[in-house]
Amino acid sequence: MTRERYDVLVVGGGHNALVAAAYLARAGRKVLVLERRPVLGGAAVTEEVFPGFKFSVFSYVVSLLRPEIVRDLDLPRHGLQILPLESTLTPLDDGDYLASWADPDETRREMCRHSPRDAEAAIVFGRLMQHMAMAVKPILSMVPPDPASLAPSDLRGLLKLGRHFRSLGAERFHALHKLMTMSSADYLDEWFEFDPLKATKSASGIIGTFLGPRSPGSAYVLLHHYMGEIDGAFRAWGFQKGGTGAISESIANAARAFGATIRTEAAVERVLARDERVRGVALAGGEEIEAPVVVSGLDPRRSLTQLLDPRELPGDLVEGIRRYKFRGSSGKVNLALDGLPDFTCLPGAGPHLRGAISISPSLDYLERAYDDAKYGEFSRQPYMDVVIPSMIDPGMAPPGKHVMSVFVQYAPYHLNGGWTDAKREAFGDAVVDTLARYAPNLKSILLHRQVLTPADIERITGLSEGNIFQGELALHQLFFLRPAPAWAKYRTPIRGYWQCGSGTHPGGGIMGASGRLAASEILRSS
Ligand SMILES: Cc1cc2nc3c(=O)[nH]c(=O)nc-3n(C[C@H](O)[C@H](O)[C@H](O)COP(=O)(O)OP(=O)(O)OC[C@H]3O[C@@H](n4cnc5c(N)ncnc54)[C@H](O)[C@@H]3O)c2cc1C
Repeated sequence: MTRERYDVLVVGGGHNALVAAAYLARAGRKVLVLERRPVLGGAAVTEEVFPGFKFSVFSYVVSLLRPEIVRDLDLPRHGLQILPLESTLTPLDDGDYLASWADPDETRREMCRHSPRDAEAAIVFGRLMQHMAMAVKPILSMVPPDPASLAPSDLRGLLKLGRHFRSLGAERFHALHKLMTMSSADYLDEWFEFDPLKATKSASGIIGTFLGPRSPGSAYVLLHHYMGEIDGAFRAWGFQKGGTGAISESIANAARAFGATIRTEAAVERVLARDERVRGVALAGGEEIEAPVVVSGLDPRRSLTQLLDPRELPGDLVEGIRRYKFRGSSGKVNLALDGLPDFTCLPGAGPHLRGAISISPSLDYLERAYDDAKYGEFSRQPYMDVVIPSMIDPGMAPPGKHVMSVFVQYAPYHLNGGWTDAKREAFGDAVVDTLARYAPNLKSILLHRQVLTPADIERITGLSEGNIFQGELALHQLFFLRPAPAWAKYRTPIRGYWQCGSGTHPGGGIMGASGRLAASEILRSS
């Protein structure tokens, strides 16, 4: 055992673990964070993958980070600086495009060009989604009450929840119920007629999920992506100066300022427990560190059935974790470019290159991309969410050069025959070929590419099956079911051992909410 004594050991240096560490250190606990990789942040890291070219290697845009965390930890003082991502461009197959811009009047004029009816509907839809996001917001900062429990705290929580839903009024409650149960395509069909608009909006409903836009449940994922806010503006997405790793660094800086110690290249091999009580951890090199509290920011499979011996846990929990669905469906392709892509639909280096570019020309296109994955193949023509961070933050690439981040769906973890180097290259080719249909100069300006399959995401970040959210954001594993019935309050059956990663309520994305809620439960219990 090392001689240094800590009150709390935090396993993993993902952003949720860092948030938990910061809150616990702020409350006066002596905290040690142990991260396996040389770099902090988990799926929120910036790395110089090719000399001079910096990438937000995995997650690339931010919106969901809870404002209360930004405030409590004073993150702007520690380096948080979100630059707005103001537009979305969807190139269409007929050479035209659909765009939304920072200026709402300009967006309205653009929508009118395609469908005056949709331009009207979009205003009401936007307002409703904002109300829905506000309706769900209190749930994001609530420890899920267990509906099967008669404990006073659970009954109080359920009552609070019931009152909250009643306060929404009938119309909003019905809309929320629809969002919880419908497919994003069906939901959007109720509002809009222009297919590329429905496709582009529905894309938020498939991100990170093994669902197509016509699969029931995808409307909830759509709502999840509406829940973010930047400086009070709902639905706003932005780009962190220096990449998403700088968000993790800002949280780490806050944790250090409160007195936490952070070690990298310190992989935890086992969580040590005796008589159903945690004792500390053992590192991969054999070092053992003692502490009365250990909190894991890893996903539930790793936290419960890999760091612990499953025989130390109740059988129904082990079974619950076995059933918990990961099945990653996303890949990431990072491109180093010698110049800017020239889109046929909107030539030149205009403002559209400072926002998101969505390869989602129709609902059928997205559904066919899903069909490939359903039968165990990567999409030959995938959905892609593209940003060019160096347009917003020139420090990401050498002068005159650019970095392009391409989030790709679908790349199933369980690929027919498994992922091989050849299949990774074929997947990368499918991405570049599809993009080049809309920006024909792409191949001539391509200097380097990094292709990440779900198997690579798992290998590098530790996210099981490469699921970007530490487990699917599906109704059957949300709220009091995340990650397993009766174990959704961050504690585990091993006293003193807690979970704080995205595999707990309220789930994935750079949000920090799980880390904050876990810390508050730990502090409340001691
Ligand atoms: C390709 C991709 C794109 C995404 N895009 C976005 C996006 O644009 N916007 C957004 O909001 N979200 C996005 N996400 C989701 C978001 O990044 C994640 O949900 C979130 O970062 C998860 O954070 P976490 O702290 O819960 O866990 P993780 O980030 O999974 O952190 C876990 C940490 O634990 C470490 N670890 C693992 N095993 C051990 C061990 N044995 N010992 C010590 N340390 C260990 C890992 O190295 C890692 O640092 C994306 C994710 C991916 C993969």
